[in-house]
Amino acid sequence: RLETTTRGFTGSLAYRERARQVLARGVSSSPRASQLPVAIVQASASGCRVTDVDGNEYLDYALGYGPLLLGHSPRPVIDAVRAELERGLRTGGVTSGEAELAERVAACLPSAEVTTFLSSGTEAVQLALRIARSHTGRHRVVKFRGHYHGWSDGMHVSNAPGSDALTTDGQDPLAVRNVISLDWGDLDGLHAVLDDTVAAVITEAAAVNAGCFEPDPGFLEGLREATERHGSLLVFDEVITGFRLGLAGAQGRYGVTPDLTVLGKVLGGGLPISAVTGSARAMEPVSSGRVLHRGTYNGNPVSVAAGNACLRYLSERADELYPDMERRGERLTDGIREAAARASAPLAVNRVGTCLQFFVSDRPLERLSDLVGLDKDATLAFSELLVERGVMTLPRGLMYLSVEHTDADIDTTIGAFESALGAFAG
Ligand code: PMP
Repeated sequence: RLETTTRGFTGSLAYRERARQVLARGVSSSPRASQLPVAIVQASASGCRVTDVDGNEYLDYALGYGPLLLGHSPRPVIDAVRAELERGLRTGGVTSGEAELAERVAACLPSAEVTTFLSSGTEAVQLALRIARSHTGRHRVVKFRGHYHGWSDGMHVSNAPGSDALTTDGQDPLAVRNVISLDWGDLDGLHAVLDDTVAAVITEAAAVNAGCFEPDPGFLEGLREATERHGSLLVFDEVITGFRLGLAGAQGRYGVTPDLTVLGKVLGGGLPISAVTGSARAMEPVSSGRVLHRGTYNGNPVSVAAGNACLRYLSERADELYPDMERRGERLTDGIREAAARASAPLAVNRVGTCLQFFVSDRPLERLSDLVGLDKDATLAFSELLVERGVMTLPRGLMYLSVEHTDADIDTTIGAFESALGAFAG
């Protein structure tokens, strides 16, 4: 049953006051601080449900910012982690699960032959670009406005549609002098900048961070063709889409194979691990040792065990799980759109597979560039109305589905949107 009363958040508020004294901003990653009415302090979680320190329960569509495709308590992952812990931590040692996980990645992704593991998507992007520079002897990188490739000095730029700006105070402005930002979909712009100084073109193969847009038909093929012709490497950042848009990720969905793929999130089933993968030829700079690849926690056995359990589970059930999740994603999208239409409310929803993005907007948002000038605070305020109604999304309006969300959960969620739309209009 849908609970529409405003919930109490005194426990989360009290925690914020205490934490802020000693923990910068009270959180460990900036976006968490943007949740309204307060950063919800999670006490426990099971399946697709989170319970907070005030005893409120939420249907969770934030899913840890994406990794929890199997939900919060997948038995095979938790059992594998437990068994691994019993063998001792062995952090920083060579353990045999690493090759198994690389074999699983190769079995899933068209672009994958040789893989190397790291701990975060940010680091993996950095390594992919080093590999591209080593391969080509070139230094410049093309990225697309609105796409996010982690927070490193060299890539934390042009993260908003229509903007070429650095993203944070304190960044080294010189670190992005070899980055060229283009509008996503602009093949003419790409042809104009591709020359023998461009080492790589990096893209989210589906623009999830920018608001859940599918690529224009022919765009990814155009990137493939142009990079091949100019001798640049094509890098797909599949940190979100890998194992989420299907076992073969976005490259499987759209049928375009990049030179290098960056993976993270679902790869570890909720534990920290990331990867760069590609053909043996593409990965040669790492295989040969020419590009150094370092990291104390790279391929740590606990994350590797979680990743193996997660990919084993998904591989064995892919034919049924992915179509089911996609269908629920479609039902949820349709349900929200219908509720918004009934309420004559300015709420738009985009969807790519199991990634949904809602925006408070009184105009249609068909392309990434339509987002320029949109009032982000209105969407943030709408996400607060959902939190009050037991539906947790990313504060910016991004929602992920898991294998745990049932049709009944989708109905409850549509009910929460209906109620929130009523409150929003009022
Ligand atoms: N690339 C993409 C497409 C991402 O969505 C993210 C994280 N949201 C990253 C890279 C960075 O990954 P991490 O947060 O693990 O550093």
